Amino acid sequence: MIKSCQMQISIPSILKISENELDFIGKYLNNFSFQNIAIFYSAGIDQIYGERIETGLKKAGINIVQRLIIDEINIENIIHTAFSIPKTVNALVGVGGGKALDYSKYCAHVIALPFVSVPTSTSNDGFCSPNSSLFVEKKRKTVNARIPYGVIVDIEIVKNSPVSCIYSGIGDLISKITAGWDWKEAVQKGYEDFNDFAYLISQNTVIDFLNYQKQDIKSNKFIYHLVNSLLMSGISMEIAGSSRPASGSEHLISHSLDMISASPKMHGLQVGFATYLCSYLQDNQFDLVKDFLINTGFFEYLYENPLDKSSFIQAINLANTVKENFYTVLSEPAILNKAIDFLNCDSISQKILA
Ligand SMILES: [Zn+2]
Repeated sequence: MIKSCQMQISIPSILKISENELDFIGKYLNNFSFQNIAIFYSAGIDQIYGERIETGLKKAGINIVQRLIIDEINIENIIHTAFSIPKTVNALVGVGGGKALDYSKYCAHVIALPFVSVPTSTSNDGFCSPNSSLFVEKKRKTVNARIPYGVIVDIEIVKNSPVSCIYSGIGDLISKITAGWDWKEAVQKGYEDFNDFAYLISQNTVIDFLNYQKQDIKSNKFIYHLVNSLLMSGISMEIAGSSRPASGSEHLISHSLDMISASPKMHGLQVGFATYLCSYLQDNQFDLVKDFLINTGFFEYLYENPLDKSSFIQAINLANTVKENFYTVLSEPAILNKAIDFLNCDSISQKILA
């Protein structure tokens, strides 16, 4: 039988990752005739980079029709904003960490305008993913949007972002190892479709990144490869038509933690430690994951900024209920005891879970 396939895949038309890119946003927008823009800054980022960005935009003849400062990600407000954007605007530009990008990406999706993503930190793969993490009826949800039309990353800026953001990016990246395993198992059990190309991209990208694990995490080379790898992870989701290549059991634990913790840690910090546990449960490249998280200083960072042990154990128990019909290693009933035994005996886990 021939399977019909009408999948449409988008990739960014503007892709710039280098030093001092912040000064050239206007030039790149001009190349695509995006002369009238709405710009969205994460709160505080406007004060740090706004003047520099807007000087460059003016120089290139770009007209800022609307300027918004974003400090929340409530879906109803975003839809309201989307329909208030003047008709003359022909592209939306998001500048900041998570919130401004999630907000403006979804806004652009609602009114079908091109979106240009300008991350000032890369604490997860959201700056180039086809979805947004928003509050829907007071609950944090991942909703479908569209892959950005453009991604412009100034690695000097990312390099100077808080170290927690860099470690969070590292944690989100290594999770592709356990996410890929969960996806393959789900396919073998007949629960999911597989996409060889998306799998290849997400796995090759993380394996390639392992070559840079002994570099200074604040070096341009390291940041360049971290950004590149997170970006390819976002694209692998677009190709698969789902989050499967980038999100598995480790993400379920992090989502549970977000729901039950009084003060959840950054996404990639939770995901990175959960990847360590899940690679053990899967018996999948455990030593490789462990060495990577040691060599990059990820564990060291968590020793100083520990996770709450009882919340983490509660999150493991809840994880399998987070997404319906989503098979992962945590779907196996006997696995929970194995997880608890590991966390109680493993010396690294003991130092991270306080
Ligand atoms: Zn993630």
